Amino acid sequence: MAYILVVEDDHLSLVAEEALNTGLGRAAARLVAGADVGGADAILARRALSTLLDVCDRHGDGVVILQAAGPLEQLVEMLGDIVITIVDGRSPQLATGAGDQALFVVSAETERAAQVSRLGRMLFGEGRETPTRDEYAMFAAYGAALRSAAFRGGVGAAVVDEVGEVIALGAAEVPAFGGGHYWCGDPHDARDWLLGYDPATQVRHLTVQALLGATHGLGLGPPPTDETVGKVLAEFQRREGAVGVGLGTQAAQTFESLGRVVHAEMSAVLTCARNGVATAGRRLYVTSSPCRQCLRHVVAAGMSELVYIGVPFKAPPEFLADSVTTDPTVPGRLPVRAFEGVTPGLYARLFTRGLSKPSVREIQLRLRGLESA
Ligand SMILES: [Zn+2]
Repeated sequence: MAYILVVEDDHLSLVAEEALNTGLGRAAARLVAGADVGGADAILARRALSTLLDVCDRHGDGVVILQAAGPLEQLVEMLGDIVITIVDGRSPQLATGAGDQALFVVSAETERAAQVSRLGRMLFGEGRETPTRDEYAMFAAYGAALRSAAFRGGVGAAVVDEVGEVIALGAAEVPAFGGGHYWCGDPHDARDWLLGYDPATQVRHLTVQALLGATHGLGLGPPPTDETVGKVLAEFQRREGAVGVGLGTQAAQTFESLGRVVHAEMSAVLTCARNGVATAGRRLYVTSSPCRQCLRHVVAAGMSELVYIGVPFKAPPEFLADSVTTDPTVPGRLPVRAFEGVTPGLYARLFTRGLSKPSVREIQLRLRGLESA
């Protein structure tokens, strides 16, 4: 089998070490030193990778570990479905679509070495590494996220009991009478995408219109025409984008909550309520950084911890600082922490037994295909 690992500098030696320890990846470890061709142009990068693969092939069962950058990174992406990127919890790559990407998230501090060694064992070891509680729960939350067709993107959540079993799921979606959300194929399905517009957009427009109407009435601004409302909303969007936090600011989150979509966290809590399952003392896993609206509900539901994957949650808003914390050593508050480990996008690939993986020969053929194209 062959893997291409895109590894950050400081993780590289740990993975290589693990490869050596297991004996399976000796060829791979030898290749590590020669693999740093970051900054080379595309042709050089192809040549370097080609050489690496040839050496791998001669050693039989080989593994390629690359510290990829520049053209090589693009090349590795083109070669397909075997790219694993090791990132820490503050990586910008986690900001969007974290669940879809083949990322392995390590902590910023002390646990890092052990975590990377575990990834090494998963890839090169002869034992059988299975998911952690966190990985299992986040994968379930991700599965729930996939049923969402909300305009703002799918988010999923899973409630987990004291031993790690998933006891309830939730997704960000329009509520349906009778409980939960519409399912695909429901006769009266009225989700936003079927309506063809996002009702939140309408409410946003009306809110800004009312504000402009009030300021205009006081002689402080222009009349609330469609054009001025549009300009204010565009400016608002631009400012949100400029600070680089997307939906992270309070004003943006307040606007976002004006629609009818039930957020995944609340959806999961309501799944518990519908079924008479306690939420107190349970953990919540979410495929996105939690918003303020959800946080207060999770606190009120008595949950013991919130684990998220996505835009780093730096600190609770001031008005929730009495009940929410990012510091796990602070007692008496809901701890919010970033997910670590095998992300949902990589879960099936790493934990499916006997899953076939591309051979060195196959990657060589793909590379030659690229060269002749
Ligand atoms: Zn929310």
